[in-house]
Amino acid sequence: MKSIYAFEDADSKNRMLLGGKGAGLSEMTRLKLPVPPGFTITTEVCNKYYDNGKKLPKDVMPLVMKNIAKMEKKTNKKWNSIKNPLLVSVRSGAAISMPGMMDTILNLGLNEKTVEGFAEQTKNPRFSWDSYRRFIQLFGKVVFGVDDKKFDYVLDKYKKKQKVKDDSKLNVKSLKKIVSEYKKICEKHTGRKFPDSPNEQLELAIESVFESWMGERAVVYRRQNKVTRDIANGTAVNVVTMVFGNMGDDSATGVVFTRSGANGKKELEGDYLINAQGEDVVAGVRTGKNIEMLKKEMPQSYKELNNACTKLENHFKEVQDIEFTVEQGKFYLLQTRNAKMAAQGYVKTSVDMVKEKLIDKNRSLLRIPAEQLEALLHNTIDEKKAKQFKQLAKGIAASPGAANGIAIFDVKKAMELGESGKKVILIRKETKPEDVPAFYPSQGILTSLGGKTSHAAIVSRGMGKSCIVGCNELKIDEEHNRCKANGIIVKEMDEITIDGTTGTVFIGNVPTVKPKKTKDFETILGWAQKIKKLGIRANADTPNAAKLAREYGAEGIGLCRTERMFNEKDRIKLFVKMIMAKKPEERQEILEKLQKLQKSDFIGILKAMEGYKVTIRLLDPPLHEFLPSSKNKKVLARAKELEEVNPMMGHRGVRLGITSPEIYEMQIKAVFEATAELVKKKINAKPQIMIPQVSSIAELNHIKSIYNNVKSDMEKKYRIKFKINFGTMLEVVRACLTSDELAYTAEFFSFGTNDLTQGVFSFSREDVEGKFLGDYMDKGLVEISPFQSIDKNGVGDLMKIGIERGRSVQKNLEIGICGEHGGDPNSVKFCHAADISYVSASPYRIPTAILAAAQAVIEQKKTKKSKK
Ligand code: ADP
Ligand code: MG
Ligand code: MG
Repeated sequence: MKSIYAFEDADSKNRMLLGGKGAGLSEMTRLKLPVPPGFTITTEVCNKYYDNGKKLPKDVMPLVMKNIAKMEKKTNKKWNSIKNPLLVSVRSGAAISMPGMMDTILNLGLNEKTVEGFAEQTKNPRFSWDSYRRFIQLFGKVVFGVDDKKFDYVLDKYKKKQKVKDDSKLNVKSLKKIVSEYKKICEKHTGRKFPDSPNEQLELAIESVFESWMGERAVVYRRQNKVTRDIANGTAVNVVTMVFGNMGDDSATGVVFTRSGANGKKELEGDYLINAQGEDVVAGVRTGKNIEMLKKEMPQSYKELNNACTKLENHFKEVQDIEFTVEQGKFYLLQTRNAKMAAQGYVKTSVDMVKEKLIDKNRSLLRIPAEQLEALLHNTIDEKKAKQFKQLAKGIAASPGAANGIAIFDVKKAMELGESGKKVILIRKETKPEDVPAFYPSQGILTSLGGKTSHAAIVSRGMGKSCIVGCNELKIDEEHNRCKANGIIVKEMDEITIDGTTGTVFIGNVPTVKPKKTKDFETILGWAQKIKKLGIRANADTPNAAKLAREYGAEGIGLCRTERMFNEKDRIKLFVKMIMAKKPEERQEILEKLQKLQKSDFIGILKAMEGYKVTIRLLDPPLHEFLPSSKNKKVLARAKELEEVNPMMGHRGVRLGITSPEIYEMQIKAVFEATAELVKKKINAKPQIMIPQVSSIAELNHIKSIYNNVKSDMEKKYRIKFKINFGTMLEVVRACLTSDELAYTAEFFSFGTNDLTQGVFSFSREDVEGKFLGDYMDKGLVEISPFQSIDKNGVGDLMKIGIERGRSVQKNLEIGICGEHGGDPNSVKFCHAADISYVSASPYRIPTAILAAAQAVIEQKKTKKSKK
């Protein structure tokens, strides 16, 4: 494999090797579009650079110089020439685009001598010196790590001196002074002379582009966007002949999308600047003009741009994001890549491009990032208006959508005010199950602690409430009902806005916009539904959540958590009483009341999901989780009694059902009663009962006998033959290994992938996420949190064992998964491949899961074909 490819020689299909930018440049060159000559140093060289202790392999620079010689021929310019210097840009570019995350240097090859020659050759000293000062600034920043502000300060100083607002108005005298000051800044910073030799400049620039691959910005970006090494491994370096948009008023530079990235409309969308260089548009030093203006200002270039857009879109069959430059009326293309769009944009263009016969349905589904669909279901910040509001802090975007309301730090108060119709944002350091009643009447939740899977995050997501967690900069003083960040104090009742899509907290009431479930969205979901094989169910604990899930396309409920019901306002007290009850009779009395309440809950949910299976999980968490932090001595004493060293591995789930059988019995009865009532009304209710935390067939059989007793009582009482399936979760390692035994009793399985992941890793999730997982990720030991995406090699393999052994006993055993992973596209794809029957996700993740399930089918077909 060669280390370097000229644009015209490269195999532009090989994005892994060339990076997206390199591949795009070479493909455009092949299409005979006007691309300045250049070459790509491959990502393999980047990896060698790192393997080599951050040194370029010896053969690279000689090869670079050979390719520079080729460029000299094509351009009729000369490297390091005083009369006619060849200048280049040195640009980063990985297999997927990481906009703004890595570095690029422009105008390389200039020094005190070539700048003069360049001035003479172009008859434009102003332009030549402007290019030089840009070069020093970029080089200083990128290669030497000088703070940009230092350069900006000098630039501003001369703008003021010369009394101009616009940098394009600076004269040669000012520019020369700026250059000299810039150099001094660099020299002071590095303690060395600013490099004048173009060869040295080039070598340093190449190295620092490689360096930027592991820069903090890039690393964080890759982590947040789940860019693993199999998606992009190292950056390539592109060396491109400079063309100049800053050569005068007949020159310009700009960026354009072939269709709107925000809403997908078929019209060019973009900005450009007259007499400027590329970076200016992106950095926003000057406000760009709308691309439509180019039609008037430079009609010929506009036409060429428009043609190029059509050609590129037809060629790549994808919306393109294009960079162009006009040098004295001559039009050049500098980049093309698949456009990154908002969910709305993807959905509309997917439908449109099928209508236009540009792509087929499969391709139209594959191109939409499934995760993004969730954003279509939540209210969002009105971006245009948000700019006028002050930012308070930034945290982890845990549950998308925007919400505004008054800041409330107290759970009780949040409930009172929320229920009285006030819009409330609940702000806490963290939340606990006992706080859940306050979630319902609140608009959104903000916590200073916790990660994406903290309690606040999971509960909010399930409810579709916007939520920000881990907002560390926010110092919360719960005692005095206030918080502080950025020097701003927010008191109780102050208005704030949280944007759960980006994690930003604003001061004041930022307007939000309602989402519309557009026709296009429905079209896409319809296509996906037809193709997918996996069943999609919802995690839903209330009739409302069930209705919503059904609206979004859920085909049943995979997990209905009964404990959530006890957390509701009118129940929790009763439930605490039940836990406190010493005498069995007393407890029995309370249980009967609870049974009535549960029955009515079940009726609501089963009705909302009529015709579809509803999996009801019996009580799972340890009892002390329900005890409030109270000053009551008796409650305290009971809490102490129930305290456990490691509650998540303690007295919970089926273990609780065995030691306090009356609780499970009550719940099972409630399911039967609810079903009986619905059967009478001829409503097709399909409940199934699921036991959590099971590790052995003995446990499962023990509970099955309780179930059997209730069943025979109920059949006598109602004279109905009930068909209520009895099944188990597989969330304990031993359950997976002995699933063949469990399959003799269980009528269905459901993997609880959260607990299973904890078990397989011996990770206690809260501790791991709060303490060291971040460090592991920084050090590259973990690429994606196993709590976000199923760990295929470990947890996934164990699941496969569980499936195989279970189905060796019951061939058609229904096996689903519930838990956070059900809404994660990668995990959905894994489940499809593993022959899982269905995944269960929170209502707002249903469209995501449907799309991911369809993508799994299409991708599988594609790989099968390519293997043939
Ligand atoms: P990014 O990946 O951050 O967009 P680029 O490598 O595309 O970085 O370059 C940054 C800017 O410089 C872009 O606006 C690009 O168009 C411009 N640019 C890059 N190379 C050249 C060149 N050879 N001539 C003129 N402008 C260039
Ligand atoms: Mg670019
Ligand atoms: Mg569990």
